[in-house]
Amino acid sequence: MTISPSPQPPLWHSLDTAQVLQALDTAPGGLSGAEAAHRLAAHGPNRLHPPAQRGPLLRFLLQFHNVIIYVLLASAAITAALGHWVDTGVILGVVFINALVGFVQEGKAESALAAIRKMLSLRALVLRDGQRREITAEELVPGDWVLLQSGDKVPADLRLIDSKNLRIQEAVLTGEAEAVEKATAPVAADAAIGDRANMAYSGTLVSYGQSTGIVIATGEHTEIGRISTLLEQVEEVTTPLLRQTAQFGRWLSLAIVLVAVATFLIGVFWRGLPADNMLMAAVALAVAAIPEGLPAILTVILAIGVQRMAGRHAIVRRLPAVETLGAVTVICSDKTGTLTRNEMTVQRVITADRVIKVSGAGCAPSGDFSVAGASLPPDAAADVQAIARAALLCNDAVLRHADGAWCLAGDPTEGALLAFAGKAGFDQATEAVRWRRLDSIPFESEHRFMATLQHDPQGGHCIFVKGAPERVLAMCASEWRATGTQALEPAYWRQHIEGLAAQGQRVLAVASRPAAETQTELRVDDVAVGLTLLGLLGISDPPREEAIRAVRQTQEAGVRVKMITGDHGVTARAIAAQIGIGDGVKVLTGPELEALDDATLQTVVWDTDVYARASPEHKLRLVAALQANRHVVAMTGDGVNDAPALKRADIGVAMGMNGTEAAKEAADLVLADDNFSSITHAVEEGRTVYDNLRKALLFLLPTNGAQAAIIVIAILFSLPLPITPVQILWVNMVTAVTLALALAFEPTEANVMRRPPRDAAEPLIPGWLVWRIGLATGLLVVAPLALFLWEIGHDRPLAEARTLAVNALVVGEIFYLLNSRRIDASVLSWDGLLGSRAVLVSIGLILLLQLLFTYAPPVQTLMGTAAISAADWLIVTLAGTVLLLWVEAEKTRRRRWGQRA
Ligand code: ADP
Ligand code: MG
Repeated sequence: MTISPSPQPPLWHSLDTAQVLQALDTAPGGLSGAEAAHRLAAHGPNRLHPPAQRGPLLRFLLQFHNVIIYVLLASAAITAALGHWVDTGVILGVVFINALVGFVQEGKAESALAAIRKMLSLRALVLRDGQRREITAEELVPGDWVLLQSGDKVPADLRLIDSKNLRIQEAVLTGEAEAVEKATAPVAADAAIGDRANMAYSGTLVSYGQSTGIVIATGEHTEIGRISTLLEQVEEVTTPLLRQTAQFGRWLSLAIVLVAVATFLIGVFWRGLPADNMLMAAVALAVAAIPEGLPAILTVILAIGVQRMAGRHAIVRRLPAVETLGAVTVICSDKTGTLTRNEMTVQRVITADRVIKVSGAGCAPSGDFSVAGASLPPDAAADVQAIARAALLCNDAVLRHADGAWCLAGDPTEGALLAFAGKAGFDQATEAVRWRRLDSIPFESEHRFMATLQHDPQGGHCIFVKGAPERVLAMCASEWRATGTQALEPAYWRQHIEGLAAQGQRVLAVASRPAAETQTELRVDDVAVGLTLLGLLGISDPPREEAIRAVRQTQEAGVRVKMITGDHGVTARAIAAQIGIGDGVKVLTGPELEALDDATLQTVVWDTDVYARASPEHKLRLVAALQANRHVVAMTGDGVNDAPALKRADIGVAMGMNGTEAAKEAADLVLADDNFSSITHAVEEGRTVYDNLRKALLFLLPTNGAQAAIIVIAILFSLPLPITPVQILWVNMVTAVTLALALAFEPTEANVMRRPPRDAAEPLIPGWLVWRIGLATGLLVVAPLALFLWEIGHDRPLAEARTLAVNALVVGEIFYLLNSRRIDASVLSWDGLLGSRAVLVSIGLILLLQLLFTYAPPVQTLMGTAAISAADWLIVTLAGTVLLLWVEAEKTRRRRWGQRA
């Protein structure tokens, strides 16, 4: 899709930088806070109108748009035509209650999802009052200076005024998947959107490079804001599994209608029963058998799952993830920040002459230096000074003192370097002015170094490089010593790199070289050779306590954990051993992985749990290799280049705090706290959702089946109906929605993380559960039928016998509801029987309704019921208890045999 250029002036892309600044009344250093607030009041927040919501009336009416409900409405019409107004009323009552519950629950589900989506609000890095500041994208105003870097989502429409290798993927606007190269020079006024190289449009993704741009339009005035149609889709609350289940519900309903018709025909033509009565019986049968509560329950279970996950820091971006999570067999996790705390601290400085210890932890720039136990004043140590300055300048992070604490904006590795430089006595702001930066090559996981070109206050320019030591070592020809520069001794450095790595430290090498004053641009070739190595920095990043626990829990749950890191193999092995991943020996590095073909990788991928010096393409290959072995893979990522692996994985997991927008867009799940343990929690909740779906079906199918079977049996054997049509409709009305819905609120079962992941190919209702459903249906039919026959055999009035049968059925369903709280485990415990408030409330409600049904005179007249005795209730309760114990016995038998068919 191409968008024609907008007719409204000014045409920002055709103006030069000076004109843009003038038109927007802004200058280098950005707007002042006061001016920004003023403009925000004038222009409004930078956000798009949410997609038009369906009105409440429409949403209510849509509840009736369902095959299941159509069948019920047709039944109501039939009963009305026959003049059975009570029956019509009860059927319509079912339909109405059901629609109301669906309406309320769906509304709750939708607003919960909307609230969760808000948790993923976009942030932007701006210049205000001459300072870099991170604000929410909603606060942007025209004239703001926005800094873009790879992985960012462009937060507003920008006119670029400075750009370094910037490439932007504009598919949302132009449909073009290839990223386009950006520049800053004015372009022709009539250029199409895709050709306006000096513009960055809201909603597009920066795939490479860095840039600064001026906000020219916000909110609805952006290009994306104008194509409103794109955003009009309302996301449905559903997943493939739920769609299949709902589909199954529809087929079942049609099958039930056929059975009802057959029953009618048998009754009239074979048994010779009156057509009018048979029609009523057939209608009652259909209504009783149809699981009308199903659609609402599915939605509620899903919404509760999503909400619980969000409460545990796992934000679901795509709903199908909820059900896939329960089937995950492997989690491939980044090390840095996910398994470790990302609280990096420089602990060692190694120069050609000596090893220096650094004390102090966290972001605060306070700590001391010592050599072999003797304190070292940093301002007297030229080697520390040289390394600290390089580490400070070759750095994109900002350390700020606010509200009594030091806070970091940027990469934690770089933050550690800033704290270290602070300990050595440097002030970031002062140095940035003295050593003005002319150009830079930003850090990327692929090349593992960063370089800057700075103005040298002593004259000339200077290049600084920091990065993975083997990369930087290869660029160096010499090493810095107090006595003067000397030829590089690689063996010395290698030994120290291994030594630091073996302690689990992340190692960085720092180097520099002078450059000509004429040089103003930095290219990769400029840093390829001839640098002087200043030294090594050993940075600690301890594992997260909760991650260690979560890894163990995940492994107990039959899910394999693999660690992927860009760090050195020895560092990776040391940290993995601390966390409990892998066998402490096997590590596969990126270069080794590249040497393997796909087939070999598929054979080694399962046994190797630690991957080092890995880059995003390696992640993609790992996902593919695991999937080829039929694994369901969750993969974490944070960088722009991780997007393909996240998309390919069954569950792509992005980091909410330190991740790029590009990674979040590609992910199914976003971790609000970047913490591995949140993935474990999400898996647990995913398994719970699946369990609860099963429980709902496990309960719904037998109860509806039994209600229908009682009528069918009576007709087949020419018995008087043990439960009249209007009574079965009543039972259906009071139990259908309430009882089953209680199961949607079931908490996680205790053993959920102690069993292996479910087989993704296993059906929702496998054979052994079909058997359970059959058994339960049988047990639910027996008591009402037997009690009814016994009563009429002993000449009790028909009304009493029927009342007893109905109460036996309802009480049986109540006891079976308790059985259904656990699929496999016993419910014969305090918690199993009384542990759910939702279940207790709905049982209380139903008992109240049954008392009305049995004893309230007006209801007795309507329903044809009669009072029954306390002894009758006792018998009914006993029958329910037998049912409960029988089903529990069947569970025990299964557990003993220990296999799931
Ligand atoms: P991880 O996957 O563990 O986060 P990275 O790909 O970020 O690993 O880093 C790999 C290596 O690159 C690190 O071991 C370190 O030596 C180096 N490195 C990391 N961050 C930076 C940075 N900001 N600048 C320069 N080098 C870095
Ligand atoms: Mg990293």
